[in-house]
Amino acid sequence: MIDLAKYTKELSELFNSSGNILLISHVNPDGDAIGSQLALYHYLTHKGKNVEMICPNNLQEFLKWMDGSEKIRIYIRHRKECIKIINAADLIVMLDFNQQNRLGEAEKYVTGATAVKVIIDHHLGPHNIDALLISDTSRCSSSELVHELITFMNGKPFENKSYSEVIYTGIITDTGNFEHGAYTGRTFRIVAELIESGIDKEKILNIVYNNFSADRMRLLGLALYQRMTVVREYKTAYIYLTKNDLSEFNHMKGDTEGFVNLPLSISGIVFSVLFVEKENFVKLSFRSKGTFRVNEFASRYFSGGGHLNASGGENYDTLENTIKYFLEVLKENSAELRG
Ligand code: 5GP
Ligand code: MN
Repeated sequence: MIDLAKYTKELSELFNSSGNILLISHVNPDGDAIGSQLALYHYLTHKGKNVEMICPNNLQEFLKWMDGSEKIRIYIRHRKECIKIINAADLIVMLDFNQQNRLGEAEKYVTGATAVKVIIDHHLGPHNIDALLISDTSRCSSSELVHELITFMNGKPFENKSYSEVIYTGIITDTGNFEHGAYTGRTFRIVAELIESGIDKEKILNIVYNNFSADRMRLLGLALYQRMTVVREYKTAYIYLTKNDLSEFNHMKGDTEGFVNLPLSISGIVFSVLFVEKENFVKLSFRSKGTFRVNEFASRYFSGGGHLNASGGENYDTLENTIKYFLEVLKENSAELRG
């Protein structure tokens, strides 16, 4: 656990001395990226600060209900405006990532900006970025960490309904509603307070988890029935989805979210991989149970990273070659997987 007092002192000073604050989350943002970004936004604007928000690309539908999300500028839709905001910022806070390529197209402008930079994150293996790094990998989510920092800075819980809702959303999405990830007793104490503050948890759960299309359910059926291979020898299961599969089921952003978790419920499987064919590359998601470090696997073979048991990466080759390559590198890890 990190020394909150030390970091909040530095953070408060930076917030106090900055006129223009920019909060930026990662490409393909999840509930935790947007949750932590909006939480900080609600707190800082409440304190009278001038705050802008940018996200490298579009938010999925299930995140757009969050109060303040309409104020997040999407870099790939408003490039010029975003570059201006980046250049005008005195302070840039990056949320829920620790590798600069997660900034997508905004990377070169953010890294080149003269603003002071801060990273608030909970992933393993930070890259060397010129920024104050506030990273706590013992936190289940960046939202939990942001919440602790804000509570400390504020001297008491920050009471604001929009704030409580976005923190709750960040926590449930990064733990799969308390199924995986680094959630702890402390997480539940925070959640207890959020629920007692009056958030409508049922409304949020329904928006986040019970809001899929029938096509998405059928795509999941195809994925499990015809696109999943179990490699017993290596305690591994993988699923692939082609571009055609996606278009046949009218794929919408976010539809494949969660698919990769499912093979881990097969007895004896400790490593699960999802391959999704994109326009000129393959997106990979990795999950594991126990000690197999998927963040290292993702970073060594697929230019990715993440957490010990949940990571992602990409491969700029065909789906067929990517799976072939994966099966080769899987063999190299057989000792750890069999162990
Ligand atoms: P997911 O599989 O749900 O997309 O991502 C799981 C975790 O891995 C998340 O914490 C996410 O931030 C991280 N992750 C996903 N894709 C990438 C990637 O391409 N690069 C890095 N560094 N992390 C990724
Ligand atoms: Mn996160």
